[in-house]
Amino acid sequence: MELLEQRILSEGQVRPGNVLKVDCFLNHQLDVDLLDKLGQEFYRLYKGDGINKILTIEASGIAIACMTARYFNVPVVFAKKAKSKNIDGEVFTSTVHSFTYGKDYDITLSKKFLGPQDKVLILDDFLAVGKAMHGLLDVCAQAGAQVGGIGIAIEKGFQQGGDTLRAQGYKVSSLAIVDEMTDDGRLRFRPQ
Ligand code: 5GP
Repeated sequence: MELLEQRILSEGQVRPGNVLKVDCFLNHQLDVDLLDKLGQEFYRLYKGDGINKILTIEASGIAIACMTARYFNVPVVFAKKAKSKNIDGEVFTSTVHSFTYGKDYDITLSKKFLGPQDKVLILDDFLAVGKAMHGLLDVCAQAGAQVGGIGIAIEKGFQQGGDTLRAQGYKVSSLAIVDEMTDDGRLRFRPQ
């Protein structure tokens, strides 16, 4: 998506450890008009796929998910990272290794909000090695929910997450794919 690539080029910052910082518009300060356009694009890509719920992970996925849900007119549910005890077995849970923080955390999602009746579009801001997505897919599998597609704002194509998911047969759509990123800030996008 040309518009997103332009914003990454003009405002993104490359940080050591293959981290791309886009907190001016995507995951700290939020450009709502841009997010709306991302939502519109996800709708165009998945509108024929019978999606009845959008699933994401807190915190950065939530804004993108909400803007997209306005187009689909479906609810958003997000996996929580906060510790939550599974005393009565009332939540699905999975362990995720964080790319940006380098440690493991648990995600939880109430069993009330995901089940076999759901066909979900999973959305997130970034896809790197795919650990967060793996946790969300695990939660869907536990719930018996069908995965209709995976939508990502920015995929780092030089890490294996996206290509692995495509090889597994998922319909993965990333609105910008960064194939190369150097410490001095040069970026190369995959032509789409
Ligand atoms: P993965 O689990 O695919 O390795 O990483 C995806 C998660 O890590 C995303 O939810 C995102 O929050 C975070 N992440 C991964 N790479 C980056 C990056 O380059 N920049 C930012 N801002 N977040 C990232």
